[in-house]
Amino acid sequence: MKICIDAGHGGKTPGAQGKKTLEKYINLELALKLRDELVKNGIEVIMTRTTDVYIELKERCDIANKNKCDYFISIHCNSFTDTSVSGTETYYYNGSKEGMELARAIQNAAVQYSKNKDRGIKTASYYVLVYTAMPAVLLETAFISNENEENMLMDKTWQEGFVKNISSAILNYLGIKPNDGTIPEEPGSSGRELSDEDRQKAIEELERMLELMTQSVNKLKDIIR
Ligand SMILES: [Zn+2]
Repeated sequence: MKICIDAGHGGKTPGAQGKKTLEKYINLELALKLRDELVKNGIEVIMTRTTDVYIELKERCDIANKNKCDYFISIHCNSFTDTSVSGTETYYYNGSKEGMELARAIQNAAVQYSKNKDRGIKTASYYVLVYTAMPAVLLETAFISNENEENMLMDKTWQEGFVKNISSAILNYLGIKPNDGTIPEEPGSSGRELSDEDRQKAIEELERMLELMTQSVNKLKDIIR
């Protein structure tokens, strides 16, 4: 399973501007955290950028397509002239059933964690949704133009919880059991040490089986003779 994560904007294209920060920084912070969560769960992640650099939209799609990624997730912050406008919305390409399902899973997880206004899932012909060969979604995490949401987006603890919830939703959508940090049992192992009593019982059981087998072999010998 290979997922391409796209941190929107970067370098000379800052994206939307908040009072204290720029969209490109928030997008990258969230994208890197989402990468770490997914990698922890055994998913291969391809990033369109890991630093504050300018990357053309075409190149972002090329990266996902050349790497034959299974899904493409673009992370953005929303903005509007009316600073009271707030909430979260997720876009997918019209007609992509998988894109719609993934968008719904991510949208629900984002809103569940942030308690932001649920602006729903929507279709759009954004470049990265159109020119990626795999199901693609674009998450508008929150409005950077809204002071409350900008503060929330900048909060590192909030970022971690938000991304974790989204990662869980993606894993759930993919049917992958989240790795909760416990070491998985090796196949065939009982996962525990045998007590002396259990060991003694196992030996007795083996001896009993061996005796039964010996009896059977002797019976067969009698028949053959
Ligand atoms: Zn953006």
